[in-house]
Amino acid sequence: MQNDIRLQFLGGSNKVGSLSLMLDTNGTRVLFDYGMTPSKPPTFPMQPPPVDHMFLSHSHLDHSGMTPYICSRDNQKIHSTKLTSEISYLLHKDSIKIAKMEGYAPLYNMNDVKQTKTNVIPVEPTKKKFLNNDHEIRFHSAGHIPGSLMFEMVGSRNFLFTGDFNIQDTNLVKATKPIKCDILCMEGTYAGRDHPKKREELEKELIDKIEEVIMRGGLAILPAFAVSRSQELVLILKNSGFNIWYDGMGRKVSEIFLKYPKYLRSEKNLRDALNRIHFVHSEKGRKTALKSDVIITSSGMMDGGPVLSYMNKLKNDVKSSVILTGYQIKGTNSRLLIEKKKLDFYGVIEKVACDVEYFDFSGHAGHSELIEFAKNCNPEKIVLMHSDNREALIKPLREFADVFTPNDGEILDL
Ligand SMILES: [Zn+2]
Ligand SMILES: [Zn+2]
Repeated sequence: MQNDIRLQFLGGSNKVGSLSLMLDTNGTRVLFDYGMTPSKPPTFPMQPPPVDHMFLSHSHLDHSGMTPYICSRDNQKIHSTKLTSEISYLLHKDSIKIAKMEGYAPLYNMNDVKQTKTNVIPVEPTKKKFLNNDHEIRFHSAGHIPGSLMFEMVGSRNFLFTGDFNIQDTNLVKATKPIKCDILCMEGTYAGRDHPKKREELEKELIDKIEEVIMRGGLAILPAFAVSRSQELVLILKNSGFNIWYDGMGRKVSEIFLKYPKYLRSEKNLRDALNRIHFVHSEKGRKTALKSDVIITSSGMMDGGPVLSYMNKLKNDVKSSVILTGYQIKGTNSRLLIEKKKLDFYGVIEKVACDVEYFDFSGHAGHSELIEFAKNCNPEKIVLMHSDNREALIKPLREFADVFTPNDGEILDL
């Protein structure tokens, strides 16, 4: 058959984690993302055969987590933005550390991580790359985090792989726009859930909430991903006047962001915001931070990182508040906190007396936005991925396209 497109998810088709998609067109094999789920134990996508080209949408571990495995196994080259490659490098090093700490065998070593970095072929939005005589890949900003990409394959039929994307501007990155295509392969992290409020309203509510916590003599602790969410929070709180401390890998990540200002909405705003906060460098700093107004720290889902040592000190303090701002994957510590007001401190589960709040500062398109985006891409066929609730999107999307929800391992000829 001429110009066939064959898809196979190796992971992450029906959950928010371990994403990987293999595409085969006229015998050219392409791999999009190769992630992991940092659960206990971590989970991975199925193994692909050797591929001709590999593309990485962004650095979050559910997309990039296992790229060192493929890069070292096949000496595979990998296309991503330079920013994505630098941040993935930090996250990969950290995963080796975490695996060792938790007693899981790391699936790659430092040499593999270094090789992955050197195997990167840097690409950027608005540029393209030829796959074979009939197909090329064009790169578009995904608006999800700085340096994130969507991949458009142009041939007799156009195919779009969204990775994670956002169609609303945040303080940190500008939103993306729909791209006309015949086949749309779209993430659905927020399928079935709309972002409840306008961003500005939500930002004001967050500041009010923190003020309330400070007024009653408590401390606001904001667990946040080191990559992107913590910088977004620093930007939101830039003019609040709060005494803010920042602990974790987010500092290094911020320095990398500032090296690539073209992926930021405003380099100046980020620089100014970072200049107004304090960074924890030592145990002494950690003690001082506990006397401040706000601590922003990793990990976002509270499965490790400095946030647990702060929570160990604060867990019985009814005046303090844990403010979650991201998507809480099933089985994570922050989900346990939201659902049961308990936290797992490295194997010991304890009650938490602090008040727990959730603000939806997502970097993903919400339910209605996913539908709006899909409609404006005007595809004949939509393949849904990276969602634990794809069912919620089927009916509204069937109004204007054929919708497919293949499971991991299933082969889909389009
Ligand atoms: Zn992401
Ligand atoms: Zn994702």
